[in-house]
Amino acid sequence: MSEIDPKQHSAEHILSAVFGQLFNSKIIDSRFRGNNVRCDYELEIKIPTEEIIKEVEDRANIIISENREVVFEEIGLEQAKALYSLHRLPDGVKNVSIVKIGSDIITPCKGPHVKNTKEIGILKIRTHHLVSPNVLRLTFVLD
Ligand SMILES: [Zn+2]
Repeated sequence: MSEIDPKQHSAEHILSAVFGQLFNSKIIDSRFRGNNVRCDYELEIKIPTEEIIKEVEDRANIIISENREVVFEEIGLEQAKALYSLHRLPDGVKNVSIVKIGSDIITPCKGPHVKNTKEIGILKIRTHHLVSPNVLRLTFVLD
């Protein structure tokens, strides 16, 4: 956890938000290993993989290039439950830390992040394949 690169971590939130916005897909796993980040996305709709990859990579890089401010906020648990699926949250918490990347990418998270998306660089999806009929696994790097 402590080894996570703030750039990679912020980029993962952006990529996941784009998957959600464009394809109604949610992230189900992510691994950070050196320069590579591996993410698994659950896909609800059947679209050729190449098309998905191109669209999310382009959209993520547009967002990164918008030099968005990244800010932390704490919100109450009930408010958070109404806004997000919080299945990974431990029992007994009263407040939830969220990270906002611009106004429309909001993720419950306590990890390390950049202060502005201009620090991230360019996101490149290097590999992708389906690990099951509805799970797309990809790896990305930052240049
Ligand atoms: Zn985070």
